[in-house]
Amino acid sequence: MTDQVNFGDALVSPEEKTRRVGAVFSSVARRYDIMNDLMSGGMHRLWKDRFVNRVKPRSGERILDMAGGTGDIAFRMARRGALITVSDINADMLEVGKQRAHSRALSGLSWKVENAEKLSFSDATFDACTIVFGIRNVTDIPSALREAHRVLNRGGRFFCMEFSSSDWPGFSNLYEAFASNVIPRIGKAVANDEESYRYLVESIRRFPRPEAFKRMVTDAGFVRAAAEPMLGGLVTIHSGWKI
Ligand code: SAM
Repeated sequence: MTDQVNFGDALVSPEEKTRRVGAVFSSVARRYDIMNDLMSGGMHRLWKDRFVNRVKPRSGERILDMAGGTGDIAFRMARRGALITVSDINADMLEVGKQRAHSRALSGLSWKVENAEKLSFSDATFDACTIVFGIRNVTDIPSALREAHRVLNRGGRFFCMEFSSSDWPGFSNLYEAFASNVIPRIGKAVANDEESYRYLVESIRRFPRPEAFKRMVTDAGFVRAAAEPMLGGLVTIHSGWKI
């Protein structure tokens, strides 16, 4: 029998999780950007700016943005002259991203449907690999980390930003109340989709704490793995290097 995995708080087969995550992002794709602003009070923009400052994309570098969705991270890196491959398992998210890139007249971007667990790229293709608010949705996270390591050049760097629960007691209670009660309601009001936003909240609560995820980054073969928690670990920037 196949092991069960979490889809939010529900236990399902790995195949069913991948299918349901696909349905969530197909459903939210058109409203994804406005919902990010509403759910985070615009803070996701600051976190993403900070993340890209850590990646330090250089002109002409080849960077893979896994689970790149509608392109928020890719656009920031392309503006610094890097050549970005935006990959995502969900064609609907990428389609919204392509339209946004077109309206911003951005160049240096290519788009590809890819499962982060099994990338089609050859070994040692990229100088950096990023994944932002994506990895908690991946069914087999260790496989995705190993794939990121495989497609990086020697000296290549891996950066990931993800949510988890916060360990600041007062803040964590406030956030929990907001996340459980308010986010699904905003999802219902704005996107007419309460369930998808309930899943997003549950998946945040279930994602490993920063130290535990840092060990997973090391287990995938990265060296000098580091975790930079913000807001008590609610959002953490992880990094590692391939040697
Ligand atoms: N990185 C973007 C951002 O920060 O705005 C999008 C993040 S969005 C919350 C999560 C993305 O992960 C979705 O676009 C979803 O399709 C993608 N995703 C989920 N599972 C995936 C997988 N196995 N491989 C690649 N992308 C995946």
